[in-house]
Amino acid sequence: MKNLWNNDDAAKCNNDLLALRVYTSRLLGQEPALVLHGGGNTSVKASVTNLFGESEELLYVKGSGWDLITIEAAGFAAVKLDVLKKMAQLDQLSDSEMVRVQRSAMTDPNAPNPSVEAILHAIIPFRYVDHTHADAVVTMTNTETGADRIQQLYGNRVLIVPYVMPGFILAKKIYELTQNIDWASLEGMILLNHGVFTFGDDAKTSYERMIQLVTDAENYLPVQGAVIAPSASTEAKENLLELARIRKSVCKIKGNAVVTKWDITPESVSFSNQPEVASIATRGPLTPDHVIRTKPVPVILGENPEADIARYTKAYCEYFERNTNGQLTRLNPAPCWAVWPGFGLLSFGRNVKEAGIVSDIKDHTIDAIQVAELLGGWKALPESDIFDMEYWELEQAKLSKKGTSGGLQGKIALVTGAASGIGRACVETLQSQGAAVIALDLNPAITTLFDQKEILGVVCDVMLEKDIQNAVEAGIRHFGGLDILISNAGTFPPSESISEMNSKTWDDSMGINLTSHQRLLQACTPYLTMGIDAAVIMIASKNVSAPGPGVSAYSVAKAGQTQLARVAALELAALGVRVNVIHPNAVFDTGIWTTEVLEKRAKHYGMTVEEYKTNNLLRTEVTSKDVASLACAMAGPLFAKTTGAQVPIDGGNDRVI
Ligand code: ZN
Repeated sequence: MKNLWNNDDAAKCNNDLLALRVYTSRLLGQEPALVLHGGGNTSVKASVTNLFGESEELLYVKGSGWDLITIEAAGFAAVKLDVLKKMAQLDQLSDSEMVRVQRSAMTDPNAPNPSVEAILHAIIPFRYVDHTHADAVVTMTNTETGADRIQQLYGNRVLIVPYVMPGFILAKKIYELTQNIDWASLEGMILLNHGVFTFGDDAKTSYERMIQLVTDAENYLPVQGAVIAPSASTEAKENLLELARIRKSVCKIKGNAVVTKWDITPESVSFSNQPEVASIATRGPLTPDHVIRTKPVPVILGENPEADIARYTKAYCEYFERNTNGQLTRLNPAPCWAVWPGFGLLSFGRNVKEAGIVSDIKDHTIDAIQVAELLGGWKALPESDIFDMEYWELEQAKLSKKGTSGGLQGKIALVTGAASGIGRACVETLQSQGAAVIALDLNPAITTLFDQKEILGVVCDVMLEKDIQNAVEAGIRHFGGLDILISNAGTFPPSESISEMNSKTWDDSMGINLTSHQRLLQACTPYLTMGIDAAVIMIASKNVSAPGPGVSAYSVAKAGQTQLARVAALELAALGVRVNVIHPNAVFDTGIWTTEVLEKRAKHYGMTVEEYKTNNLLRTEVTSKDVASLACAMAGPLFAKTTGAQVPIDGGNDRVI
């Protein structure tokens, strides 16, 4: 474990106790092998003069909801130290009572809730306390002989604490264990199956003790022969239809759409190919707090993934029934990650971020499992301990606060013509409503246009069948399935009368405005039939019902696209896919409508630009964003019972009406 302490950076803290606390907390947070996604916590004790001129001893402890890697001074809750110390002496304290009393002892009611380990931090008689869930140490303790190995490695440098539930019970346990102990003789504490605590009177000592203890464990592992040897076969097999089918099974059990992160790293594929994988992957999590994200175990997929997921669900319900006290509400029984032998590993989440967190945790877990196997056998905590954590009221409360739910949460959409105009507005609106988006465009800028993990930009010429196929497959590989298709790419050919029509103008318009939609629909259909409330939205035109002279190449193609959608609605209804059409008109906030062109057209009709833009019955301007909002509504529950419909968005047009 690299020591990241830097004297120059530390000097910038000007010896401010809290600034140094922020500094070394971030050093710990930078290393995923120490803490992952909100794991670990840190504190500093300080004497502060309050408003009344009185001196108060405070504990600044990491607030709930903050990550060590990005924590700031505002991320620490200041709690009166004497109250916390008194709490450790209580015989019993419920978790919600603990939170209530801690909150009432805070000096700033707007600060976040103190970490559940606040009492433990308070009773450690050093100014700085650091706590991580270091992989190397926890891995050692997740073995049959873990406690002995820790004793052998660290001797009397550390206090070894058997696993108990974090929070008050852990603080109480350590309070009792340390009544007659010489704290000065200790560098830290090893909490079996949980993590490491270190402490010191200055930030550097506490931090460096953490690095040293973890480094000792990391050096110990190879000496014991615990070095993972990758399996011979790390090439992943691929079956995208099966991937979409697996996702659908998980969504159905979860009761909402999910995105899938499919890992085909050599490490993931190698793990999935382990002959013993069904046994070693299903013994439990690396540390109990991971269970909140990952459930106790993944699903192991075989020849019939649907049946495997159904079996997993049944087993989860039985696990709940075995452990519940009758007062608890069962969580959804769907797996959070999957081992797919030969194919790699899958992580599921309500959004890309959540799937990424699950994926990171499972990366650390599979390493730990394999190392522990080389140390005599991976052995997680008994399921009752895991269950207590999974159904801990404080953890449940944390999760319920995290609800980031847009109307299209977890849905996966594909949009063509995504770099500008209506297409771009559709991508942005879909994403803002919680969907993951595969954004296709001919413009190479599409790959960098959207700087969000929920949007995958893919260069695609919709005139080329192979490009379409590749782009759709890239999207499925990336997000795991497809629920929404917004078929939007198109061009507006130059105005030519039928008698003077250039055959290229005609052919190009048919190619882009009609045939490309058919090819795209064809490529997407197998995946859409495995989508969640799957919906196709064709962006057509007012010209279908109200054509104008000189635009036959455009109007005929758009009429064909509309007819394609109607037939698709008939064909796909039985497969659970809805197909609806939007007919926009006069959407002027797109690339082709520069101020110059607008002024010219307005002048041609003897209007101001404003009059020209709102030249419809409702005297309103129709924007790309308006069209995108309608498309998203059509993709969502509002239109769940509508297919084959055509909806104009044109401010009202007497020729259409
Ligand atoms: Zn912990």
